Amino acid sequence: MREEEGTWLGHVLEHVAIELQNIAGESVTFGKTRSAGPPGVYTVVYEYAQRDEGIAAGELGLRLICSLLPEVIRPAGRCRRAGTGRRRATSSSASRSAARSVRRPLRW
Ligand SMILES: [Zn+2]
Repeated sequence: MREEEGTWLGHVLEHVAIELQNIAGESVTFGKTRSAGPPGVYTVVYEYAQRDEGIAAGELGLRLICSLLPEVIRPAGRCRRAGTGRRRATSSSASRSAARSVRRPLRW
């Protein structure tokens, strides 16, 4: 995806979830977002330092972004998390290999 084409809402969520944790004092930076197939469905992965805090950051970010969308593109009940999983980050860097991530597929 090129810059001038904008970005996916899932990518926006990835950054919001990371930033909310930074505001809370955590030093997390890693995130990745990919299309999950159907339009508007994404797999969002981001780092967290504390699991509950990381999940709460994602849920708050989802609510925040959804509340900012114009109603015409925010059909009721479509801004939701489809599931949550977790895995170890796979990067070979020392800081990332120690980081845990939450894997969060989303539907918009
Ligand atoms: Zn990014």
